[in-house]
Amino acid sequence: MKKRYVILDRDGTIIEERHYLSDPDAVQLLPLAAEDVRLDGIYFCPHKLDDNCCCRKPEPGLVDLAARQLDFNPAACVVIGDKRCDIELGRRIGAMTMLVRTGYGAQEEATCAVAPDHFVDNLHDAAKSISTWMK
Ligand SMILES: [Mg+2]
Ligand SMILES: [Zn+2]
Repeated sequence: MKKRYVILDRDGTIIEERHYLSDPDAVQLLPLAAEDVRLDGIYFCPHKLDDNCCCRKPEPGLVDLAARQLDFNPAACVVIGDKRCDIELGRRIGAMTMLVRTGYGAQEEATCAVAPDHFVDNLHDAAKSISTWMK
């Protein structure tokens, strides 16, 4: 059986939201997220918004690449993020979606801008829910 993966947004989900992050030392894991988390890959879109690339969320290009490199089924993943584009990405690949209320998440929930499968307060709660389902 193939390994199942959790696809995590970065800003507002695993680290504090910053306007523009270019210094790896500025990465701050949100409280509780630092425990028991192992990242098997880090993928990012190097393009600009108007480049119309296939890897900027909600386009699934980076997930497709990760799925080939790490050998997993995108539809068996859980996508966790704080914005509409994260949830849309999850839907496009057929994955389960979770909106965290950190970053922009609370705002997105209040405006009903997205309809994820689950709302959770933060990444820690997301991890707890996922481990409960896997038992
Ligand atoms: Mg985000
Ligand atoms: Zn891109």
